[in-house]
Amino acid sequence: MAQQHTRIMVVDGSTVSRAILSRILRQEIEGAEVVECKTGAEALDRLESEPFDLVTTALLLPDMDGLDLSRKLRKSRRHHYTPVVVVSGDADARLLREGFKAGVTDYFDKSQGYKAFGGFIKSFITRHSGLVGRILFVEDSRTAAAVTCDILENHGLQVDHYTSAEAALEALENLDSQLRDSTDGGGYDLVITDFYLKGSMTGGDLLHAVRAKMHYSQQELPLLVITGTDDYQTQVEVFHAGANDFVAKPIVEEILIARVRALLLIKHQYDALKQQAETMRWLAATDSLTGVRSKRYLLDHGEDFIRDPANQPVCAMVIDIDHFKQINDSLGHITGDHVLADLGELLDTEFRDAMVVRFGGEEFCLLVPATPAEEMLERAEALRRRVAGLRPAGVDITVSIGLASSADAGGGLTQLISRADEALYAAKDAGRNRIHVHLGDEILPSPLGDAPALAPTGN
Ligand code: GH3
Ligand code: MG
Ligand code: MG
Repeated sequence: MAQQHTRIMVVDGSTVSRAILSRILRQEIEGAEVVECKTGAEALDRLESEPFDLVTTALLLPDMDGLDLSRKLRKSRRHHYTPVVVVSGDADARLLREGFKAGVTDYFDKSQGYKAFGGFIKSFITRHSGLVGRILFVEDSRTAAAVTCDILENHGLQVDHYTSAEAALEALENLDSQLRDSTDGGGYDLVITDFYLKGSMTGGDLLHAVRAKMHYSQQELPLLVITGTDDYQTQVEVFHAGANDFVAKPIVEEILIARVRALLLIKHQYDALKQQAETMRWLAATDSLTGVRSKRYLLDHGEDFIRDPANQPVCAMVIDIDHFKQINDSLGHITGDHVLADLGELLDTEFRDAMVVRFGGEEFCLLVPATPAEEMLERAEALRRRVAGLRPAGVDITVSIGLASSADAGGGLTQLISRADEALYAAKDAGRNRIHVHLGDEILPSPLGDAPALAPTGN
């Protein structure tokens, strides 16, 4: 059912209109395959033998009326439910009067301009696109279940069927413990349950457990209850208990799918918002150029990090690119940005255990946990050499590094970092491309550093 491309048919007698509409559709809808037809007869002919996801038609066609085309489409088996959009020059009263009966899904008023058509069709496709989602379906009658599963699966949905509310609840709880707080999805998008079930739990009990025990909101996990047609009391009760909607037995495919579509839309919008909130949090904590943590993150979490007993002793390392200004000046800011991004990536991979922060322009600060001074000197020296051979964006760069350990003197985050910073300045003063260590009462060059080559000039 789910197609890779959205296939759209454009029916219009005017060559110019067809060309404009097709171009907009191809631009606005990724991977859209647009087929143009000049007449109603040509359109019906192709619709008979090919699948389409959407048909747009002019109201006046050379050989028939657009509404007639829609009526004929509704009679075809293949396109009984395919949405039809009438693109018309005038907001004709006839469209409103006869459109529903003729099976027209929506109208676009051409007087709004072709630019608006792009936006219209995009939102139309979102509202009418194929169904996507994973459904937890509870139905004790295997015959009834087979029919409903078929309907849902034919519409492209993934269905997990259980015959009792107990088993469904267990599946839901298992998944919940793994996935609740992730934003990757993978959980259920919708629960559909029969109200009357043979086990000791009814669909109503399952609904109650989902809302009152697991605390899923109606947006987070929509729930659709299947009731009897005249079962008004139950219908009222399930709404009270937090069901989003109900469908009555016997199930009518179009009604079931329309409700499922509406509920999945709610769920997908909820997921999108959640994802957005997560992205915003990440953006605030991350430097967008280099992908490492932001200074904001260091200020919010650094103090806890250096006080955490599991992290002792913490080593602060301040890294500054040598003569970076010359790189900008001679090769441009964009190259400079590449250099920063590559260095950020290197730091992130080499110091996975550490809090890696972009501290200022071309200065990074690392808090490395549970690392004795000797080991830290080795890691810093290895880093200095790696950077000298990195050639980010084809540029030779070197860094100067200042180190300070929480083992050597007391104080909080600010003191630790400013000692590392003082060591950095000593390294710069001593000629750059080298490492200095603040020992609490004195600053010394790293004993591991052999006399480095002269600092490069950025080319
Ligand atoms: P030193 O060896 O003493 O560190 O010299 P330097 O040139 O690296 O240091 P300075 O502090 O004089 O210059 C840093 C430069 O970094 C100046 C600034 O324009 C540049 N810079 C800061 N942030 C960015 C950035 O995000 N992108 C780029 N391309 N350049 C930046
Ligand atoms: Mg610098
Ligand atoms: Mg600097």
